[in-house]
Amino acid sequence: MKYCTKCVYPAASAAPLAFDDNGVCSGCRVAAQKPRIDWDERAEELREIFEEYRSVDGSNYDCLIPVSGGKDSHFQTYYVTEVLGLRPLLVTYSGNNWLPVGLRNLRNMRERFGCDHIFFSPSVEALKKINRLCFRMMGDMNWHAHCGIFTYPVQVAVKEKIPLIVWGENPQNEYGGPAGAAADNVLTRRWLEEFGGLLGLRVSDLVGREGLEPKHLIQYTYPSDDALRRVGVTGLFLGYYMPWDGYSNALYAQAHGFETYPQPVEGALVNYENLDNAQTGIHDYFKFLKYGFGRATDLACLHVRRGRLARTDAVKLVRMHDGKFPWVYLGTPIEEIVKSIDMTLDEFIRICDRFTNKKLFECDARGNLIKDRGGNLTKVNYDNP
Ligand SMILES: [Zn+2]
Repeated sequence: MKYCTKCVYPAASAAPLAFDDNGVCSGCRVAAQKPRIDWDERAEELREIFEEYRSVDGSNYDCLIPVSGGKDSHFQTYYVTEVLGLRPLLVTYSGNNWLPVGLRNLRNMRERFGCDHIFFSPSVEALKKINRLCFRMMGDMNWHAHCGIFTYPVQVAVKEKIPLIVWGENPQNEYGGPAGAAADNVLTRRWLEEFGGLLGLRVSDLVGREGLEPKHLIQYTYPSDDALRRVGVTGLFLGYYMPWDGYSNALYAQAHGFETYPQPVEGALVNYENLDNAQTGIHDYFKFLKYGFGRATDLACLHVRRGRLARTDAVKLVRMHDGKFPWVYLGTPIEEIVKSIDMTLDEFIRICDRFTNKKLFECDARGNLIKDRGGNLTKVNYDNP
């Protein structure tokens, strides 16, 4: 396994990060360009876009913001309402499994910025089935969330005739991803299909399994090109127009009533993100099993790229926090989390083993994964130089 020479991002992952001849990842290259960007010009460009879309007679919302209630949602809503003085419609695709602190933050955001808010909850029965199916098929419980978060708000934009959707950061840009994904400042159907984390699974692939019918999957169906054109829907990434930084967003958010967790989130380095969904720990753990890195690596990379953390220290932090078996997430035990989708811990562990990339972890002579008492694996090499 090779690692970026500037941050701690691994090269042998499925996210095909482009590495240059010096062994530097595309995430670091994008970050290195940022100081050279004329942010005043970009801010002006952004103001012009918002003016163009402002509802002149006040008969409709000026834009739509997809929100989870997290730090970035707080910042987006703060920026659009208080800095630009616009009236957004907030839209949440709710994935069930809310943690209390996440719900409190969502309510805080809506009330603090005085916004109208659509909170969409799919049927719990259907969600359980989709969760379980996708977990067994792809080792990803959160497929419905990747899909719903990027699809349902677009449906609302079409229905409510609100052409401008304001997304936060292009995740491909912040966390590193294929060059073609980072260059875009707009979110399109193509972006969603290629880079939105859907792992190649189409909505239609679920039909007929576990009794799922098209009527259970309405919220995951991207509007037609015709419908999008009729309203002129466009989705921009705010992170293209300003030097986006999750840490400073978290500070803005806290200044506006956002609540953090009393300690760093399990498997991460910080206490201010991923506070909404109990399944997040499992999602991050599976990234580790499949690709050999987890949330701590992502976060360490962000801080290294911004000069807040030395690479040598980042290596230590990653080793300390990445890839621990997710016994508990924000106080919720794993048994309870998997029980919510009618699954036993035994089956959960079998699925873990099935999706573990054995080339990345130590195995015994028979090829079985070696685990410590806590169920943790050991990487074959941590040779992050
Ligand atoms: Zn890098």
